[in-house]
Amino acid sequence: MLMYHSVMPGHNVPDWPWAVSASRFEAQLDALQAGGWHTVTQSELASDAHLPARTVAITFDDGYADNLFACEALARRGMCATWFIVSGFIGKTPRWTADGRPPQRLLDASELRDMQRVGMEIGAHSVSHRRLTELDDMTMELEVADSRKILAETLGTSVSSFAYPYGDWDARCAKAVEAAGYGSASTTRTGWAKRDDNPYTLRRLTVFNTDTASTLIRKVSLGSHEIASSALLKQMGRQVVSKMSAGRGRAG
Ligand SMILES: [Zn+2]
Repeated sequence: MLMYHSVMPGHNVPDWPWAVSASRFEAQLDALQAGGWHTVTQSELASDAHLPARTVAITFDDGYADNLFACEALARRGMCATWFIVSGFIGKTPRWTADGRPPQRLLDASELRDMQRVGMEIGAHSVSHRRLTELDDMTMELEVADSRKILAETLGTSVSSFAYPYGDWDARCAKAVEAAGYGSASTTRTGWAKRDDNPYTLRRLTVFNTDTASTLIRKVSLGSHEIASSALLKQMGRQVVSKMSAGRGRAG
């Protein structure tokens, strides 16, 4: 699973680490397609037992208005993604903390319905984007359950996917998400979302402003953010081993 936030117009690398440029985003989609990666929504990922090996679930947290471009770029390629929407801020300016976030509004109800019509999944991301683990039981449960209800009323469909704001979760929150009727929830823990994982604690790979199409492909292939260093360490390991065996060869 990949996690995006903002997709900013143009070619320049955005300052905000959680934004990618529109041109990089398109290059990343093209690279995924060229590499034979098939896209599914989070709910498909969580419920379909027969997915091909190269399956990727693209996700967007918060639902920034600049994501309309991303939606079109995906739809043009026959790809899909899941958006996690903060139900108390539909069409509004976000008021939760995010250092350095470029100012912009969030997607509105008619935009979300249009996105659904072209095959995108709309999931929930709480009512007000607070850290769920810091809330008392009742407030936390309302953040989880009400966002599902409000979105379902807004969209006229049922909502089955959730993402924890700030990736902040614990067993109590995961239980509340399940009790509210969602089929799955994603975190910001790094790694592959595996078939036998708990569907309420799915892992994702963050896409950062500096990720190119090729670093993105390495991320999805290795299930890690530490692509450069881990590949380098492996390479160094191989060199040490080959030197050692070459040395033994000479000595023996
Ligand atoms: Zn968020």
